[in-house]
Amino acid sequence: MDETVLDGNAIGGLLIEVFGTEMTTAVGTCGSCGATSQVAELAVYMPGLGTVVRCRSCEAVLMVFVRIRDVTCVDLMGLASLS
Ligand SMILES: [Zn+2]
Repeated sequence: MDETVLDGNAIGGLLIEVFGTEMTTAVGTCGSCGATSQVAELAVYMPGLGTVVRCRSCEAVLMVFVRIRDVTCVDLMGLASLS
């Protein structure tokens, strides 16, 4: 397991692929602690099976990206908002 913590810039290309637009400058609000942060500043983990984005304040999982047969599935349930 690679526990290296990256930041949102590491998934800039993935985000463009998923959302169709530049998202690293978007501001996300943590659904758990309410902290707001630019996507570029969030903690990103890539354990191999997918990509996990966590809040730097409370460690809550904000976004999960999993690639299955060339389709990237996105789970944004940890985010209160993303704009
Ligand atoms: Zn949080």
